[in-house]
Amino acid sequence: MLRPPPQLTVSEWAERHRMLGSRASAEPGPWRTSRTPYLKDVMDALSAVHPARRVVFMKGAQVGAPLAIDTPIPTVEGWATMGALIVAQPSTDERGLPCRVTGASPIMIGRACYTITFDDGESVVCDGEHRWPVWDFTDGEKPVARVLHTREMIQWVRIGRGPRYRYAIDCCAPAELPDQDLLIHPYVLGMWLGDGSSAMNHISVHEEDAEAAEHLQACGVDAQFRLPRWRKGRCANIVIDPTFRLVDDGETPASIQHRSRFTTRLRMLDVLGNKHIPAAYLRASREQRLDLIRGMMDSDGTITPDGKRCEFCNGDRGLVDGMLELLRSLGYKPAVYFMASRRKIINGQDRTCLGYWRVSWTAYSEEPMFRLSRKVARMRPIARGRPGKSRRRRIVSIEPTSSVPVRCIEVDSPNHLYLCGAGWIPTHNTESGNNWLGYIMHHVPAPALAVQPTVELAKRFSRQRIDPLLEETPALRERVAPARARDSGNTMLSKEFPGGILVLTGANSAVGLRSMTARFLFLDEVDAYPGDVAGEGDPIALAEARARTFGWRRKAFLVSTPTIAGRSRIEREYLASDQRRFFVPCTACGEMQWLRFERLIWEKGAPETARYHCTACDHPMQEHDKTAMLGGGEWRATAEGQDPHTIGFHISALYSPVGWLSWEQIARDWEAAQGKPEDIKTFKNTVLGETWQEQGEAPDWERLLERREDFAMGVVPTGALVLTAGVDVQDDRLECDVWGWAEGFSSWLVDHVVIPGSPRDREPWDELAKLLARDWPRQGGGAMRIARLCVDTGGRDTAAVYGHLRRLRDPRIAPTKGIDGWNRAQPVQGPTSVDALVNGQKLRRGLKLWTVSVSTWKADLYRRLWLGRGEAEEWPPGWVHLPRAIDVEWVKQLVAEQLRTTKDRRGFARQEWAKLRERNEALDCAVLARAALWLLGADRYGDRFWQQLRDQIADAPLRASEIPAAGNVADPPLPLQAAPAPSASDTQRPRGWLAPRSNWLR
Ligand SMILES: [Zn+2]
Repeated sequence: MLRPPPQLTVSEWAERHRMLGSRASAEPGPWRTSRTPYLKDVMDALSAVHPARRVVFMKGAQVGAPLAIDTPIPTVEGWATMGALIVAQPSTDERGLPCRVTGASPIMIGRACYTITFDDGESVVCDGEHRWPVWDFTDGEKPVARVLHTREMIQWVRIGRGPRYRYAIDCCAPAELPDQDLLIHPYVLGMWLGDGSSAMNHISVHEEDAEAAEHLQACGVDAQFRLPRWRKGRCANIVIDPTFRLVDDGETPASIQHRSRFTTRLRMLDVLGNKHIPAAYLRASREQRLDLIRGMMDSDGTITPDGKRCEFCNGDRGLVDGMLELLRSLGYKPAVYFMASRRKIINGQDRTCLGYWRVSWTAYSEEPMFRLSRKVARMRPIARGRPGKSRRRRIVSIEPTSSVPVRCIEVDSPNHLYLCGAGWIPTHNTESGNNWLGYIMHHVPAPALAVQPTVELAKRFSRQRIDPLLEETPALRERVAPARARDSGNTMLSKEFPGGILVLTGANSAVGLRSMTARFLFLDEVDAYPGDVAGEGDPIALAEARARTFGWRRKAFLVSTPTIAGRSRIEREYLASDQRRFFVPCTACGEMQWLRFERLIWEKGAPETARYHCTACDHPMQEHDKTAMLGGGEWRATAEGQDPHTIGFHISALYSPVGWLSWEQIARDWEAAQGKPEDIKTFKNTVLGETWQEQGEAPDWERLLERREDFAMGVVPTGALVLTAGVDVQDDRLECDVWGWAEGFSSWLVDHVVIPGSPRDREPWDELAKLLARDWPRQGGGAMRIARLCVDTGGRDTAAVYGHLRRLRDPRIAPTKGIDGWNRAQPVQGPTSVDALVNGQKLRRGLKLWTVSVSTWKADLYRRLWLGRGEAEEWPPGWVHLPRAIDVEWVKQLVAEQLRTTKDRRGFARQEWAKLRERNEALDCAVLARAALWLLGADRYGDRFWQQLRDQIADAPLRASEIPAAGNVADPPLPLQAAPAPSASDTQRPRGWLAPRSNWLR
């Protein structure tokens, strides 16, 4: 086999061989490096001839995102896949084409999600914070345009208790897509799909519709209208592209056996005997899609006598779905009904029909749905209809649904937002790695290992990225047998090719990382790798060890979006490299500069005014200037690398090519993230490709002391919806802080209790049990109990503490041990079972112990303590409210530690908490109380969690003793033995995520 000349670089290889299919890419077609000029050098550093051995690529996840999404996504407009959504060629014109992705939000995790269902049966999953432009029908006839969050609408879907729905949203504007080069004219295909013989080139038509042949001829096919002598009712035939001309006697059926050009094309489209709308037609231009509909409507469609509704009836669900997708993409609001089998008179004959679907929608003569003049004539002009109604969809239900990682993708305008399910959003950047793999397989065959964070992700990577790469690139298709074929040497996780093998594995599999020696290592999303694989050490080191035998010929490509400063692997690697940045010229003065977020300037509240200001001349550059800037850009090293064979690249979403993530959207995302540290972190990581600096600096205790508020200790403030507590075990006492919580993790210190006594003794623990049985009066009435309490068992008397906790047997008590590490994904782990000693008797696995990632929760608390008040002096969500009665010592303890950056043995930075003061009980208790809230599910269930608490409080009847007039008196504490009844503890587990009416809400 002829091999390409070895001088080819990876980018040249990609230009020459790489095809992006519509399945894997939003911009199908040959790979064009010019689309993302900054990727050229990154890819070329991976070429066999390039001296670099390690290439480090730190990037914002959203640079050039979203390029390719092949996971089906539910959308308002009914598009099935992201790929279908963004096939529109992004234009350099800033106004652009309407159906174009203009922005994408960061991936959001743990949000409250809802399924919204519309009156046409479509539904979409979205986040509670999603903003909808709606028509509000409360006030009689005239709807009011408003913009509402999903969570604001949930209670008010119907008007009052009546049957009418309150909100409606507009159907989308027609999707503008480029003209497609189609094998068969869409009108001709539509005609045939509607009423053609599924196996050949004949279409049945009504005998009055001889005109149809003319329309078909106008589409460039040879169409003959025939009235067969033996025909049923008033049915006639149109033959397209007959193989030879017949005398028009209707008696010569022999010709149909020959294959016409039209039949051949039907076969090429794979619709012969398999009627459906091919994908290329669904994504064709607006006019082409309309023509397809007109063809289908001329053969199989009708219009009601009053001209109000167009209807399409068909028994083939696939065809019906295609019709629905076409109509929605054109901005119509079709309704679909299933008609069960029944008897029907067709052309004067009595027939039994099988079930079929009826699609019905309103259209106007301004955009005819037919070509046949008798049908067109019946359509009404828009002036006589109610276009508002037919272009709106009512919201008929909003139901909570399980939380999924979501991201909004914005198309055209804020009105059109799409959500992708999984957090697996591949980008062009990912493609640079895939191009390298393709290049290896084709050009420098050798063993290669591609590592994803987990084996599960590696499988997904194989299915969604590698398979399309192999299928869509002809040069690779012939070298790698499809995985389906037997003995092909290919499975999901290994791909053999002449001269080498590509193995895919996860960083969590030590076996996978050790499985083979590899000359090429593709280490993807390294910041998501576990710190240590099964006790064998750092996965990157483990993988790189396997490449060492290849000496200077080896190459490793490390790619990731960074995470937390001091813990980010990619940042560590980038800082050790020559730190290249992509310098681009100013369009006014030509000054070469790399893009910094500080230079993106806009008027507050007006992200559309965002311009990039030159660092030299301050010239404001606009979105459309990007193309020229990127085209004139080059990579420059900004540091001296520690190792000459390691080179590093950094790129942020500010470089996203025109048509992808815009500066305006970046400005909008930044504004939206304000006041929400977690969102700012996501923004820094995924948009800017920078690490997030944890707020580790201790706030001044004086400042905290000053901001104490006037609420009484020992009483639950109105805002608090749930109580948790943390217990710190000291040699001579237990310290217990009770915290109240609300949405956004706003918190109130409700009480601070010190129980004297040695933790070895029984008494302090019995006092703790009393605390758990205590009713804390709520401001404004009612009472609450502690819902969950974490005890630190890591002190000196662990065994005794275990014994006492086991003895108490209260399910609300969570025994914990703290670990220093960071674990953002799972900050509380477990439980594991440990032995407990009760009354001198050892109970094997008698106690369930949770592990708390203390560092993570300390950072969480400090972030909240650092929050600032807004201009109106309002409290931001997450505010830590402290009562006036708390003393200086306690406040000092709360901020007793500080995050310090130290160097480890290999000189890499790491962060750890260091004590500033000896005593830190308040900090420990706060961390434990927060961990207790986590255990209740507050982080996982988001809005639903808080909503359910609100509902419970609203439902809780006030007992006489609790009515405020009676002095806000709580029930006396229950007798010790009765309160945390053992029977309710181990046997009765709360059902669901939050036991309804659990005993902690009184
Ligand atoms: Zn300039």
